[in-house]
Amino acid sequence: MIDLQTQAMSCISEGKHAYLYSPNIPQTLLIHPLLKIVLDMRAEGVDLRVWVNGLENFGCLDIKGEKTSRKELEYYIEYSFFLEAHGYLKDIKKSCLKDLYIDAEIVKENLRATPQISFEVTERCNLKCEYCGYGELYSGYEDRIGRDLPLESAKSFIAYIMKLKESASSNRLVTSTAVTFYGGEPLLNFEFIKEIVKYIDQFKSIYTQFIFNMTTNAVLLDKHIEYLVENRFFIAISLDGDETQNSFRRFPNGESTYGKIVGNVMMLKEEFPDYYNDYVSFVAVLHSKNSKKKWRISLETSLKKKSYSQT
Ligand code: SF4
Repeated sequence: MIDLQTQAMSCISEGKHAYLYSPNIPQTLLIHPLLKIVLDMRAEGVDLRVWVNGLENFGCLDIKGEKTSRKELEYYIEYSFFLEAHGYLKDIKKSCLKDLYIDAEIVKENLRATPQISFEVTERCNLKCEYCGYGELYSGYEDRIGRDLPLESAKSFIAYIMKLKESASSNRLVTSTAVTFYGGEPLLNFEFIKEIVKYIDQFKSIYTQFIFNMTTNAVLLDKHIEYLVENRFFIAISLDGDETQNSFRRFPNGESTYGKIVGNVMMLKEEFPDYYNDYVSFVAVLHSKNSKKKWRISLETSLKKKSYSQT
């Protein structure tokens, strides 16, 4: 049975931000202020599902200073039960809320337990998709000036994390760490990827195993596929569907990318069928020219991909 009193005590507030620290996972989650209120109310013994049913259906509510709606509250109440069902509310430290704050040890504990390390390998990209998050449609993002992630910084970071894992007690040891490469287009900085894979090799089997992931637009797959297959990279290929559905994804000169991407995917499928089945997935941006259903149909018909797809 979950001790709701101690559960709420592990919600840490820092200004407007609230965190849920769960030593059982262990992870520190940045949580919405409403979720913090919901956890506090559960700790006070309020039956939230009954309570929320008694609230107004429409309009704005003020719950302990937070403006919300009944629908939003219901969402966070169910979210608290979801967290409970997945072990996030177990074995909470019996400390007072006012004594808990994020200190260096909590940060280290989270880094030690991290199941994933992601590297934005480069800002460079060989495409100019119309909806790109760094493109003309958006403002306020950090300027992309073609920087590559410095190799030495990435190596120091890995060494630091591995040192933390080494010092972890055995029951906290994460036995598998996913290393993810994304960009821009990560294959434009292929040397970085190769160096990191080589560097990581020294840590294998001592503290943790590694899984490599990459999100790619697949334009350079023909050049690097053997390496990716050999190192068992899980690759997620960005493709929005058939040629029309994929038409926001363009080369910088405005030409369609569809033929190049599908050509590379078919080559991969023919030369490495098992790898294609087990390690390759697709990701799509949903927009006015496609839909999840159309996208799935196009993958199944033209690329014979029925599983390991995601959106
Ligand atoms: S491939 Fe990705 S990063 Fe490159 S332009 Fe398209 S959306 Fe942007």
